[in-house]
Amino acid sequence: MAAPATPDSAAQRTVSEGTVIERTVIENCAIATVDADDTEYASGYVVVAGNRIESVGAGKAPEGLTGVVRRVDGTGHLVTPGLVNTHHHFYQWITRGLAQDANLFDWLVTLYPTWSRIDEPMVHAAAQGSLAMMVRGGVTTAMDHHYVFPQGAGDLLGAEIRAAAEMGVRFSPTRGSMDRGKSDGGLPPDFAVETTEAALLATEAAIDTHHDPSFDSMLRIGVAPCSPFSVSTELLREAAVLARRKGVRLHTHGSETVEEEQFCKDLFGMGPTDYFESTGWLGDDVWMAHCVHMNDSDIAAFARTGTGVAHCPSSNARLAAGTARVPDMLEAGVPVGLGVDGTASNESGELHTELRNALLIHRLAGGEKALNARQALRLGTYGGAQVLGRQQEIGSLEAGKLADLVMWKVDGLGHSSIADPVAAIVFGAAAPVTLSLINGRPVVEDSHLKTVDEDAIARSARDQARRLARIVAAG
Ligand code: ZN
Repeated sequence: MAAPATPDSAAQRTVSEGTVIERTVIENCAIATVDADDTEYASGYVVVAGNRIESVGAGKAPEGLTGVVRRVDGTGHLVTPGLVNTHHHFYQWITRGLAQDANLFDWLVTLYPTWSRIDEPMVHAAAQGSLAMMVRGGVTTAMDHHYVFPQGAGDLLGAEIRAAAEMGVRFSPTRGSMDRGKSDGGLPPDFAVETTEAALLATEAAIDTHHDPSFDSMLRIGVAPCSPFSVSTELLREAAVLARRKGVRLHTHGSETVEEEQFCKDLFGMGPTDYFESTGWLGDDVWMAHCVHMNDSDIAAFARTGTGVAHCPSSNARLAAGTARVPDMLEAGVPVGLGVDGTASNESGELHTELRNALLIHRLAGGEKALNARQALRLGTYGGAQVLGRQQEIGSLEAGKLADLVMWKVDGLGHSSIADPVAAIVFGAAAPVTLSLINGRPVVEDSHLKTVDEDAIARSARDQARRLARIVAAG
């Protein structure tokens, strides 16, 4: 039996502690580049220089590389682009396992009072937990949609930005908002919403404080009013104007349930997609979570305008929302990525298992040709990059792109008898991550985070979840 492959080759150990690595060379691995031609190599190499991919190809890495080189033996591994998450609500990490048998509206109404008591330490701990779970499983770009801002709760967006920076993950947080409380015909209680003006001002301040538009950016801010049933028409319109004035992206929930569709018809006299179009919310700078209840004309409108979709198969199943028409969207040319969604509706909090879940639910709904393993991998990588507007920088392994990549171990118990390594990680069990590079930096090694203490994060998430439960119980 071959010795287990690890990245700690003898050559690597000759690089002494504290030395700045100029190049990382991964060799002897299978590679799925997820480029436009789906190029794959049965045995190849990736050379990373600084934070960029320098070269990718078949066979051995080029000779004569200069500077301090870390060499990684990738025998028994598949290297893919890092996974890109396109929809999440980090704060829900400390409210998991509640309202277990409810649909979306009942689940929301049950949880709003709890969520309205969150504060900065809770959101920091919840963001750490959410991020740790995803990054350990191969996510290299995370996203968050934070829309609950109780008065006096502290800097909640800043808390999650801090958690992502501490871990070293590329991050696209969005400043969410709700201004349509129950007395205005909305779903959330009045105490859980902000005024329209306060929401817009805080969103603009978040962009001015944090947004980095550069190619190498580790932090892009988006504008994200929560949903048609929790946001006024004025806020939707003005948020779109603000985002375009600032050159940032727009995100919201759309067409998630039959109840939302009925809400839009009752209040606005049209379905969600037509309502979004009427408020300036279709375009190639917009992506929406879920998009489950879309008719042919809705899908055509998304394709025509380049509006993206964050597909969240586990959350849609957990809340019995329905099955999004992802194969039809892909056929029409709609950009589609994968999303974990908040962990109060997807308690696993993982993205790598969503590749398998997406494939399985679409085959149940649409037959054995509905989605294949390569398409599932593309949804989780390049599709996510497209949806976040970063397909020039991340999402595929190509020279010149940012060095966000994952080395999946496929020669262990769970996968060694599957000859096709892409099928191994999509059809098989969640594959261990031997190495994950984000912006050229090792963030995961041997399935553990290198940059933060996982046990400390677990303790802090437990403590903050208990603290929140005590505050809610005290009333
Ligand atoms: Zn969501």
